[in-house]
Amino acid sequence: MKPLVESRLPTKFGGFRILAFESDVNEMPHLALLSDNFIKGNGINVSVRVHSECMTGDVFGSSRCDCGEQLAVSMSQLSRDGGVLIYLRQEGRGIGLVEKLKAYILQDTGLNTYEANVNLGHPEDGRSFDAAIEILRYLKISSIKLITNNPEKLRAFDGVEDIEIVERIPLEVGLDPENAGYLEAKRLVKGHLFTK
Ligand SMILES: [Zn+2]
Repeated sequence: MKPLVESRLPTKFGGFRILAFESDVNEMPHLALLSDNFIKGNGINVSVRVHSECMTGDVFGSSRCDCGEQLAVSMSQLSRDGGVLIYLRQEGRGIGLVEKLKAYILQDTGLNTYEANVNLGHPEDGRSFDAAIEILRYLKISSIKLITNNPEKLRAFDGVEDIEIVERIPLEVGLDPENAGYLEAKRLVKGHLFTK
């Protein structure tokens, strides 16, 4: 996988370079943000956050989920420690924004986030992390410290022999009364690794 374009992206969190990679939807490329510190490194023990698009959380600051806060905190960590943010265009665990908003209506009737997706005829979680692995290979990254609470993201690297996870960095931010049930469902249904 080769980038379509690469440019400089200064942010309030620090300096990055932004690379766009082809996705299934061309106007919505997958993105990799490389911190200035990462570019000086050697591709070993790199802090990596693989973040799936959540427009409501990332852009509008929704408190239905913890995505926006996770994105902001991971960008500031990556800028400080050196690392890579991979931003995958799989909104709403792969069901798209319209279906995700329909799922919100069901969640307001008492279904959890996974039950709502299934009720709409979708898988509980339709995400794939294959593109992230391809992007890490393009960047010649051979060992990573993965910033995640999600054991499925760790499992996505099972059988990937050329990229080793040397550490998991927890990311427990964005707790809000509005998303307590959502976070509890992530813990109970998918075994997310919250300690709080
Ligand atoms: Zn979200």
